Amino acid sequence: MTWSHWQVPPFETSVFFVLGVLTLYWVSYNWLATWLHNRRSKLSDDVINTWYGVIYMLVFVFSIQTLVIGSQDAWQFMNFQLIAIIFCAYFLNIHVSYYFFFPIVLIYMAFNGSLGYWQSWGHAITLMVFFWILNDIRVRCHGRHSVFAVYMLVGMSFGGLLWLWMKFKFAFTWTTFWQEWIYLVIFEALLFVYVSMLFHDSEIKVRLAKFASHDALTQTENFAAYTSAIENLFAESRKQEQPLTMMMFDIDHFKQINDTYGHSVGDQVLREVSSVVQTVIAANDDQISFYRTGGEEFNLLFPSYDLDAAASVVHQIFAAVNHVTIETDTDQIHVTISVGVAVANADDRSPMDFYNRVDKNLYHSKRHGRMLITMD
Ligand code: GH3
Ligand code: MG
Ligand code: MG
Repeated sequence: MTWSHWQVPPFETSVFFVLGVLTLYWVSYNWLATWLHNRRSKLSDDVINTWYGVIYMLVFVFSIQTLVIGSQDAWQFMNFQLIAIIFCAYFLNIHVSYYFFFPIVLIYMAFNGSLGYWQSWGHAITLMVFFWILNDIRVRCHGRHSVFAVYMLVGMSFGGLLWLWMKFKFAFTWTTFWQEWIYLVIFEALLFVYVSMLFHDSEIKVRLAKFASHDALTQTENFAAYTSAIENLFAESRKQEQPLTMMMFDIDHFKQINDTYGHSVGDQVLREVSSVVQTVIAANDDQISFYRTGGEEFNLLFPSYDLDAAASVVHQIFAAVNHVTIETDTDQIHVTISVGVAVANADDRSPMDFYNRVDKNLYHSKRHGRMLITMD
């Protein structure tokens, strides 16, 4: 097997070509997502996946077509293109509305010189319906046993219909028609198995990463996540000459809640307090990060906020948490917190120096009657 004598049968070459295109997508998507996260981009994985997926597959579909435009067998890459489209519609579950989809299809048809063929119009409409049905079955059948059967049934029928339009347009033989259709069905099955394997590994990775950086009780980020974030943000604030503010709070007389009502009520208080704080952050700015750094001690980091800018959010959190009441069978528990806030200054030689000053402010609030904010 050399450059001039390629003896691997076309079918095997095609299989590895398709798998290669998917693997390249997957590896480059993971690289891009990690790169963006390291730059503290708040783009969600779904948004990155959607945009990168659409761009990657459009480049693939168009560039492969340039090789055969205008030729007698301009249909020869159709199975690869269909696999790319099925991957976007079903596996990435990208939703494309008709006002976006239709222009893309028109551009493709103009590019391919097929605007004047009724068969191509039939093909285009079938393709759009196929895409939307794949979107739909992904959501409806997710997690069901029948999912593979439904996927294959839809893939086989639409695949057959799409090839039928091409048979009318290019008038190739029925043998070619059956052969291409069967190839497509085999590719669809392979795609399902291969992508399920890729996604399964990545789901495990995501779950482990979440487990390592989040607190199981309150779903806030944990001490390990705090340590790594403060290192980064502290260094960044020095480099960019941007302020960085930290807020710490501790629930007042929490031991008493545990001792009076039991640990499970204490846990409920922790969950409720965390959820209220998360709501306030979501209403203000999702660049503010929130950590459970100890039993009933929490920490918030405000990148690019000086004390004045942070004060409004700090007061909102303080007011919201002090309004939390937990109903027990016999009583109503009123929660209060003590707060310490400080902005990083030139005397802080490390994140620890900064942390200690905030901690000192928190204990100032504790010593002066609790349910207080100390800021400097
Ligand atoms: P102060 O107002 O001075 O903060 O008093 P406090 O009682 O809140 O402070 P202390 O540090 O004495 O008590 C903290 C308690 O938090 C002790 C520990 O049993 C409890 N605790 C720590 N983690 C958890 C948890 O995950 N669940 C529950 N229910 N309690 C916890
Ligand atoms: Mg406490
Ligand atoms: Mg404490």
